Amino acid sequence: MFFSRIIGQEKAKRLLENVMHRKRVPHAYLFTGISGIGKTSTAKAFTMTLNCSAPSGLDGCGVCTSCRKILNGNFPDFVTIEPDGRKIKIEQIRELNRSLGYAPLSGGFRVCVIHGAEAMTGEAANSFLKTLEEPPPGNIFVLNATEPRDLLPTIVSRCQRVSFRPLKTEEIIRRLNKETDLDGSSVAVLAGAAHGSLGRALEMGDSNYLERRRIWLKKLLELNARSSADAMNMAVESAKEARVGLDQPGNKKVGLFDLLSVWATWYRDLLLVRTGAPTGLLVNGDFREQLEKTASGVPLQNLIESFHLVDRAVVDLHRMRNSTLVLENTVLNLRKLGRTNH
Ligand SMILES: [Zn+2]
Repeated sequence: MFFSRIIGQEKAKRLLENVMHRKRVPHAYLFTGISGIGKTSTAKAFTMTLNCSAPSGLDGCGVCTSCRKILNGNFPDFVTIEPDGRKIKIEQIRELNRSLGYAPLSGGFRVCVIHGAEAMTGEAANSFLKTLEEPPPGNIFVLNATEPRDLLPTIVSRCQRVSFRPLKTEEIIRRLNKETDLDGSSVAVLAGAAHGSLGRALEMGDSNYLERRRIWLKKLLELNARSSADAMNMAVESAKEARVGLDQPGNKKVGLFDLLSVWATWYRDLLLVRTGAPTGLLVNGDFREQLEKTASGVPLQNLIESFHLVDRAVVDLHRMRNSTLVLENTVLNLRKLGRTNH
C-alpha cells in the first residue's frame, strides 16, 4: 500500500505525485496496462496518501487512523467494482451512484476503483458517464483497463490517463526470490513466462503450472520421434485440457492456453538459440541442452513457421469451439516442420 514498495512504474508514480501537489486533485483516472503489474496496489497507495494526516513524500505515514485502516483492509472509503461474470452491469453502477450520495465516511477522499472498466455494458457506461460529468464532491474514480480502446471515448476524455508498463524480467525475479521459496531455476522460468506481469508469475507459482510445463515440453520433445498416429493421439489427449489460461482475469486454473503459451516459448527459445543468445534470455533455460540439440537439426524457416503455427492456434482456439481440431492441425504440422531433413 506504499508507493515506495511498488516495483517499477516510475512514470505513473511521478504523475500521481504531481497530481497530489495540485490544489484540486482531478477526480478521474484511467490506469491502463496488463493485469498483475501494480495498478490496484497503486490505487491503494494513492488512497492512503490522499487520506493520510501526515504523509511523508509520496507515501502515507502508515500510522494515522486512515492509514492503519487501509493497511488492515477496513477503510470504508475504498470501494471496488469488478465485472459480474463477463460484464459490469447497470445495476452495479446504480448501486455505486447510490453510495456516492453520502459524503465519504472518513471525511477525506473516497476512492472508487472499477476493475476491467472496459467490461461495462453500454447502459452501465452511459450511466457512469453522467457520474463522471457531475461527480459528487470528495470522490475519486480509478478505472483499471487492459483494453482502453473498448471504453467510451467520452469516458476516456474525462480521465487523467496513467499508463503502467510490463515489468522487467529482473524485477520479477527479484520479487519472486523475496516473496516465494521457489528455487532459482523455477523463478527464472516463471519470470520469463509471465510476460512482464508479477501477478501472473505469482499465480503460476501457486498453481501446478511448473509441473504441467515439464509434461507439455516433454510432449514436444518426443513429437518428432512419434508416428503420425501417435502424434494424433497426443493432440487428442492435449485437447482435453480445460479451455482456460492463467492470463484470463479471475481464472486460477492451468489449461490449454497455458500449454500453447509454453509451446510458443519453446519455439521462441529455439530461434534465440539459433542466434547464439545467452541462456539468461531463454525462458526455458533449464532445457538448454535439448534446445541446442533441436535447434541445430531444423531449418531456421521451419522454426519460424512453427512459432507462427502455435501463435495461430491461440487465435483459432478463441474463435473455434472444437479444441481437438485445432490441436490436431497444430501438432501434425509441428511434427512435419520438425522432421524435415535439410
Ligand atoms: Zn497516515
